[in-house]
Amino acid sequence: MIKLEGSQLAARIKQNVQSAIEQMASRPGLAAVRVGDDPASAVYVRNKIRACEEVGIRSEHHALPESTSTAELLDLIRSLNARDDVDGILTQLPLPSHIDETAIIEAIDPAKDVDGFHPISVGRLALGRPVFVPCTPTGIIELLDDNGIEIRGANACVVGRSQIVGRPMAQLLLQRDATVTICHSRTRDLAAVTRTADLLVVAIGRAGFIRGEHIKPGATVIDVGMNRVSDKEEVRELFGNEAEKRLEVLAKRGATLVGDVHPAEAAQVAGKLTPVPGGVGLLTVAMLMKNTLKAATLRRQ
Ligand code: NAP
Repeated sequence: MIKLEGSQLAARIKQNVQSAIEQMASRPGLAAVRVGDDPASAVYVRNKIRACEEVGIRSEHHALPESTSTAELLDLIRSLNARDDVDGILTQLPLPSHIDETAIIEAIDPAKDVDGFHPISVGRLALGRPVFVPCTPTGIIELLDDNGIEIRGANACVVGRSQIVGRPMAQLLLQRDATVTICHSRTRDLAAVTRTADLLVVAIGRAGFIRGEHIKPGATVIDVGMNRVSDKEEVRELFGNEAEKRLEVLAKRGATLVGDVHPAEAAQVAGKLTPVPGGVGLLTVAMLMKNTLKAATLRRQ
């Protein structure tokens, strides 16, 4: 089984963004908005801000209290829309449940929609005329291309139909001439469907849910899931021979990151597999940098 690592490709993408920014008259700007104190969201935003510093994007982090109302958040988004020095706006999801997430996403200027979640971005992608595409699925396409994995004509199966990953992933694969099946929680006999896939992308948010029986021998498996597991027995069961390293991480940090694919079983069946961490997650951040550069370039034309 070949591990499809994301680190080298992510570094190359960021290097290209940095080189392009060095040629620009003024630096692109990205505003990251986070509400509440979800620790995972705080880590994701910190990683995005760090990547901005690496590539030369000017960044600002608006960390708002849990008590923020929809109206207050809309005011902030409108002020960021109006500022010329802000090229990209991202709101870290999920927002607290009392906030109208749809209203916030729709308030972002589509020209600054670097996450690709605005209905105009979603519609353009569906029409095959994308401008901003969500970062995780575009990062996956780059990873497949970089590893010479053929998409055209492949039987591709996407498990999960979220707006952030599953749906845009299916659109991108379809545009690249794959035969695409989308599965979700109501799919009957999931394993019978996923086992037909040459290319299996899993984004469901359930640790180790996709087992050996779900995978066609030799298939390429892209594991988008990022789940925290803190139970030692579960770690042993998921990682088999490689459990010791993970148990060390668990002892140090209280949890280890596990994808939606059972790593030990998938390693026996898949031809290629993305590791978690170290696979898709790194590319997501790199693609955000690329989208921000794109927004800045388009806004300066
Ligand atoms: P989400 O919005 O919670 O959607 C989960 C999807 O999985 C839904 O479509 C759901 O089906 C489906 N699902 C749930 N249980 C299932 C089951 N037993 N069988 C088949 N389908 C099932 O999740 P998301 O935002 O797409 O995220 C998914 C995972 O990816 C999470 O672990 C998240 O942390 C991770 N993620 C990682 C990155 C990255 O950069 N690596 C980026 C984004 C997300 P229904 O629609 O029928 O409910």
